[in-house]
Amino acid sequence: MLVCYYISTMSITEAILRVREQIEDACVRSGRSGEEVRLCAVSKFHGVSAVEEAYSAGQRLFGENRVQEASGKFAGLKKTRPDIQVHLIGGLQRNKAKAAFSLFDCIQSIDRDALIDELGKLAGVERAKCARRAILLEMHTAEASKSGFSDADALCRAAEKALVYPGLALSGLMTMAPFTNDEKVIRRAFRAVVSARNMLEARFPGHWHCLSMGMSNDFEIAIEEGATLIRIGTAIFGERNV
Ligand SMILES: *Cc1c(COP(=O)(O)O)cnc(C)c1O
Repeated sequence: MLVCYYISTMSITEAILRVREQIEDACVRSGRSGEEVRLCAVSKFHGVSAVEEAYSAGQRLFGENRVQEASGKFAGLKKTRPDIQVHLIGGLQRNKAKAAFSLFDCIQSIDRDALIDELGKLAGVERAKCARRAILLEMHTAEASKSGFSDADALCRAAEKALVYPGLALSGLMTMAPFTNDEKVIRRAFRAVVSARNMLEARFPGHWHCLSMGMSNDFEIAIEEGATLIRIGTAIFGERNV
């Protein structure tokens, strides 16, 4: 009872400190340096004031899963706090590609070839105005989620496509593991991504430094398996009101 009460009243600042400690511990356990793992605070369904509190606690990287919601929050925030970065982690529709391209520092959720062409063309047009746009390819590892490339062949084809566009900076892979308490199933999903990454690195060297995997319920396992970017919502901002 006491523990529950403590968690539900923990501030965003305290929650970030706690998550950072857990990241550090998981790194120590797996013989990695804490600097290898970046924390992306997933602020979807939480307002600007929550983002501002996280920013005051030193958090600079945020994740959002909808273009419109992210734009409402971050277009203004990025003007007053230019060191904020925001990544798109949710599915992207073609008609929102342009808005997404100009707002997000990285689009992690590239899940189909058509999207690569769409963004690649935008990158060509907008190239004079902004730096190359980072993208990650999403790998499908969970039954519950339909999105993502399903195997090494599909990822290879997508990588080949992405590398044609000079305005796109292909930077790695992203996945959402199955939502389960079965640690073995989760580990198997993360290992599939690591092995795809190794295969891709051999074939297209230098484009795979980022492995975005691990959420509130499984980030410690993800770190043990090699994640370099974890995406934490609930453990920082609390339950979402949806
Ligand atoms: C919502 C979301 C997260 C964060 O999930 P939590 O369980 O709240 O930490 C991470 N990644 C993606 C793709 C999401 O949609």
